[in-house]
Amino acid sequence: MTYDSIVIGGGAAGLFCALAAGGRGRRVLVLERNREVGAKIAISGGGRCNFTNLHTTPDRFLSANPDFARSALARYTPANFIDLVERHRIPYYEKTEGQLFCEGAGAARAIVRMLLDECAAGGVEIRTGCTVGSVSSGARFRIESDQGTFEAPTLVLASGGLSIPKLGATDFAYRIARQFQLPVVEPRPGLVPLIVAPDDRAWMSALSGVSTPVRVETGGAIFREAALFTHRGLSGPAILQASSYWRDGAHITIDWIPDASDDVLVARKRARPKARIKTVLAEMVPTRLAAALSAAVPDRGLGDIKDETLHEIGRRLGSWRLTPVGTEGLPKAEVTVGGVDTAALSQRTMEARDVRGLFIIGEAVDVTGWLGGYNFQWAWASGWAAGMAV
Ligand SMILES: Cc1cc2nc3c(=O)[nH]c(=O)nc-3n(C[C@H](O)[C@H](O)[C@H](O)COP(=O)(O)OP(=O)(O)OC[C@H]3O[C@@H](n4cnc5c(N)ncnc54)[C@H](O)[C@@H]3O)c2cc1C
Repeated sequence: MTYDSIVIGGGAAGLFCALAAGGRGRRVLVLERNREVGAKIAISGGGRCNFTNLHTTPDRFLSANPDFARSALARYTPANFIDLVERHRIPYYEKTEGQLFCEGAGAARAIVRMLLDECAAGGVEIRTGCTVGSVSSGARFRIESDQGTFEAPTLVLASGGLSIPKLGATDFAYRIARQFQLPVVEPRPGLVPLIVAPDDRAWMSALSGVSTPVRVETGGAIFREAALFTHRGLSGPAILQASSYWRDGAHITIDWIPDASDDVLVARKRARPKARIKTVLAEMVPTRLAAALSAAVPDRGLGDIKDETLHEIGRRLGSWRLTPVGTEGLPKAEVTVGGVDTAALSQRTMEARDVRGLFIIGEAVDVTGWLGGYNFQWAWASGWAAGMAV
């Protein structure tokens, strides 16, 4: 059978590209290896799908070419997606910092339903449970699959990144990109919990479940959100964000008292010389964390400790250096950082510069958003850009 375009991958980007192209009257086929499309959308945002972020700007994305995403993001904006959500009468709310979520438990499925309805309106054909064997190109792209052979003049790779293999993630897009001589920026897990060295694990694992606001810095990026202690290290939004910028062997710097200066203990000494460091810290961080952080400091009244010692302790609490030994890896990563090198793609259409008719979109591309709805906005925007061009 022949089509105008074949999209491989029925996730966020693939479905969006298909509905955009279908809406233009193109004859589109989507091939998805899972039994159902949109597996990640359905479980995203704890079942509520954080489908966009009102503050979407190119600087909320990591890429070897930080400017690449600008064009697609400008052409399909959060406001455009909100219009679509409202047309489908899906209730939503702003949780925090511009993050828009669907209202109600399991409501993420409404987004999948919406994408399927839009695809149906555009006459898009979707084949699920379809395993693609090989892709070749001549005058047209030829796709061999366990459901037959399909041909089209344009092919869209929308098979995502490597995170959460149990939801269907494969290296398919990277393999096909390499087959067509397109470079791939080494993929690695992003938005993923960090594992700390045994020394740190000893005191941190006892705090497992404790959450505290922090300021985390690594790889030139700074995030001020909550950190969460786990059995093996640290998680929580601040750490997940930082993990995307963290590189093997690098350290992260944590400010445990982000609302206080290095001189906070000196100031408290003047006001309450009898108070102990542990007591004062417990007014700023959870009690169990205060006890752990003050385990190695003098257990005396502040009045009995020199100003310079208190200043030094304050400084250490504000810039606590930690060298993670790794991450929880792709099975726990919300996204894959890296992917098909943007240098090989048109930023306006997502078409490969040197392979006419081959488009690559979504997480498969070396564009990775922060936590907070940015990754879906990239999937919609890059899908739209390709959908307008195929
Ligand atoms: C637990 C979790 C929660 C998340 N929550 C959010 C959130 O709330 N907000 C947000 O912005 N982002 C969130 N993300 C990230 C977001 O889900 C992804 O960035 C986004 O889904 C990427 O879209 P995509 O279409 O490129 O890839 P995917 O959605 O991963 O879709 C790729 C599709 O291709 C299929 N596929 C793979 N290989 C093949 C093959 N060889 N043949 C056929 N099909 C194939 C896969 O089965 C999959 O259906 C979350 C991710 C996870 C894992």
